[in-house]
Amino acid sequence: MKDIVNQLNEAFKNSSTLEVLEYLLKLRDKNISLSSSFGAEDQVLTDMMLRIDERANIFTLDTGRLPDETYAVMNETNLRYQIKIKVFFPKAKDIEDLYQKQGANGFYESIENRKSCCFARKIAPLKRALKNVDFWVTGLRSAQSVTREDMKLFEFDETNNVIKVSPLKDWSEEDVWAYIKSYRVPYNKLHKLGYPSIGCAPCTRPVREGGDIRSGRWWWENPEHKECGLHLRSA
Ligand code: SF4
Repeated sequence: MKDIVNQLNEAFKNSSTLEVLEYLLKLRDKNISLSSSFGAEDQVLTDMMLRIDERANIFTLDTGRLPDETYAVMNETNLRYQIKIKVFFPKAKDIEDLYQKQGANGFYESIENRKSCCFARKIAPLKRALKNVDFWVTGLRSAQSVTREDMKLFEFDETNNVIKVSPLKDWSEEDVWAYIKSYRVPYNKLHKLGYPSIGCAPCTRPVREGGDIRSGRWWWENPEHKECGLHLRSA
């Protein structure tokens, strides 16, 4: 699989985001799916993919701890594009066990607790969501954090046995917002209240102007630990 990924990276090294998405969405025998958390980047990709193919697959993970503003943009997106984004929830038993072990907000107490919560609410549902997916499209950008600096357009995710594609890898934050403005794409209103990166409500806070984009996520942890596990690097 690594050979295929290397070939894809070589073949598309000079291609635009649109060219990459058009190529993928024409692979009729493959399942191409965007995972959206309704952040600005995911909204750009939602718009681009649905312009190419109105049947493009988009799914989201509802952790049960999302801010109201995220549900609002979820509804707005469904209405705007006349779609029903597929929602994956955690298993009830996993959340019941989590509460028994660490209570409602145990994630503040240790990295281990935080990772257990992210596992139950995000990683396990993601595994189900990606079960039959061949290409997992993500809105990751290399400028977003130290953990993403050397990311590739195509990477193989061994955990989920899927090729991960990040067509916005080289986009700047300004590029993202210019697209949103040009195409009047719905966006999460928290972005305008100082939240450049939005996850679960208790684990996200606003960032001072000019501050690191991801510094509002799990702010009590070191930057090197600031991934929920959805995007751990395996290739
Ligand atoms: S971001 Fe916070 S609330 Fe959401 S799954 Fe991770 S630890 Fe739990």
